[in-house]
Amino acid sequence: MKILLVEDDRKIGQFVKKGLEEVSCGTTWARSCQEARAAVADGQFDVVVLDIGLPDGNGLQLLTEWRDKKLAAPVLILSARHEVDDKIAGLNLGADDYLTKPFSFGELLARLRSLVRRHSGQKKTVLERRDLRLDLLAHEVSLAGKRVELTQREFALLEFFLQNPARVLTRTQIAEKIWDCHFDMETNLVDVYVAKLRSKLRRNGETEPLFQSVRGVGYKLA
Ligand code: CA
Repeated sequence: MKILLVEDDRKIGQFVKKGLEEVSCGTTWARSCQEARAAVADGQFDVVVLDIGLPDGNGLQLLTEWRDKKLAAPVLILSARHEVDDKIAGLNLGADDYLTKPFSFGELLARLRSLVRRHSGQKKTVLERRDLRLDLLAHEVSLAGKRVELTQREFALLEFFLQNPARVLTRTQIAEKIWDCHFDMETNLVDVYVAKLRSKLRRNGETEPLFQSVRGVGYKLA
């Protein structure tokens, strides 16, 4: 479990960080909004522990920014304030849980574990790459915010690419996944369908194609 701890109080920060490391949780400790922003820009976390009162701003402001940017990690608000307002505001802004100081380390750990468990059980329903977006529930695809109509096969092919971004997919892998076939002679179907996707998902004045050919092997979603 990788944790981002955003807390300016030295004692609380040390207490939480030490406790988390004792149970083998990698912990990055940010002491200000600025440090927290840098940490999020730099790495991926399974869960964020977020204090509200920070020296250079407010934790709720950070939360708003992250949710706007679609930060996926669950957030637990750590608040010294007893006002119900802050808790409600935090939950409305997309926090997943909160804990009021003072708290026991055991309770914090139990809640973090439960958040991560709950969160990892959720299957991603929206796949994104650059300005390309595929919504599995709505069965919709858009490029730069514009809806693109795809056939079932094209949709399945795009989904496969989006699940494996920046990885070379061989013609055989694609053929097996999309057509459930293993015959070499069928793999030119792959070229035909990739060409269809390319033409439907072309941007004006595009220099780098979305689907790159890897000679003699297959394709890669750039
Ligand atoms: Ca504080």
